[in-house]
Amino acid sequence: MKFQEMTKEEALSLKNTLMAQYDAFKAKGLKLDMSRGKPGADQLDLSTELLKFNCAKNEYTSRDGVDCRNYGVLDGISEFKAIYAEILGVDTDNIIVFGNSSLNVMFDYISQCVTHGAGGEAWLLQKGVKFLCPVPGYDRHFAILEHFGIEMINIPMTAEGPDMDLVEEYVKDPKIKGMFCVPKYSNPDGITYSEEVVERIASLKTAANDFRIIWDNAYNVHDLGDESDYLGSILKICEKYGNEDMVIEVASTSKVTFPGSGVALLAASDKNIAAIKKRMSVQTIGHDKLNQLRHAHFLQNAQGLKAHMKKHAAVLAPKFDIVLKKLDAELAGTGIAQWNKPKGGYFISLNVLDGCAKRTVELCKEAGVVLTPAGATFPYGKDPKDSNIRIAPTFPPNDELETAVDLLCLSTKIAALEKLTA
Ligand code: PMP
Repeated sequence: MKFQEMTKEEALSLKNTLMAQYDAFKAKGLKLDMSRGKPGADQLDLSTELLKFNCAKNEYTSRDGVDCRNYGVLDGISEFKAIYAEILGVDTDNIIVFGNSSLNVMFDYISQCVTHGAGGEAWLLQKGVKFLCPVPGYDRHFAILEHFGIEMINIPMTAEGPDMDLVEEYVKDPKIKGMFCVPKYSNPDGITYSEEVVERIASLKTAANDFRIIWDNAYNVHDLGDESDYLGSILKICEKYGNEDMVIEVASTSKVTFPGSGVALLAASDKNIAAIKKRMSVQTIGHDKLNQLRHAHFLQNAQGLKAHMKKHAAVLAPKFDIVLKKLDAELAGTGIAQWNKPKGGYFISLNVLDGCAKRTVELCKEAGVVLTPAGATFPYGKDPKDSNIRIAPTFPPNDELETAVDLLCLSTKIAALEKLTA
């Protein structure tokens, strides 16, 4: 039954029953964390072999004969580039391999645009620079923009990606300098941009000639089942429209091998690669090639990487199932929640009754389950509807996940009833 159709008496009576269940949860003294999209320990175990370096077999020398223990090779070793060139559908020359974090690469790129511009005047000197932010989105993207004082504009996500009618309208303003995108299994909705949306992005006619799309392809190989959502190569599609300088694509092995100890990379046009390398030559003599080499040996090639991701899927698919089954059993037909069923990625996006997300998260916290703070999926931490909650099911063991989602469903109902009976 829809909660909105209950009489006040029915709603109050149900609330009392649910509060008794909630108090029982509280008495358990739970301490569970579902706040961030971290892999579980069983997923980390899948990559332990990576740490076994065989020096006797000369495993510190790259296939081009580079001694990876030493300085040199600013943009990364070729065997690592080759793996991601195939995955992303770009040429190896259009890839730069970095250190351990793609977030760091994005921060650096924006920082460089602010101080030195993106082929035009420094953004710092162009007052009132703005970015488009598909919402809900990734809080750390928003944090970068906020850090540099770049104003953020919400662009609602549709089932196919960002609302492109709005995007096309906004880019007529030369102050709009870019857009952050997570095009495959987006964080947190798990949406993959449709071919039409990708084509419309690639063919954008922007008033700013220093407009940049940060194409954060963090979940490009992170399927949960046998089927993979299709996402074309943005660089190649942009080339068709002469827009190849507009996009900076990033990815990393953070959720392939070890978050924090993986390898990050960037793919971009010839012109952008040259500009970034020039800046890098001031910034570093080179990144950690031993880690790149370890990863190349471990993953072998694009096929090897995909086979490795199947092992992750075997661990993750049951976790997503646990959450989705419980949401279905507890919240379907109540009229107080709606959620996505992603085919990959790391998150499930739950939209509770408007005005109830903060309260739901608070109820969970008081009973010992920490979720991503409500609002975090929007710029400035402000969800205009106070409705979106990001569920990160990967980290807790399955039994703890079951308990956490039971509590989440209960809290969703209580928060809704509090609002409806107020
Ligand atoms: N982008 C997205 C969309 C993410 O969800 C995350 C977090 N895993 C990152 C980037 C961070 O990636 P990295 O570890 O490479 O910095």
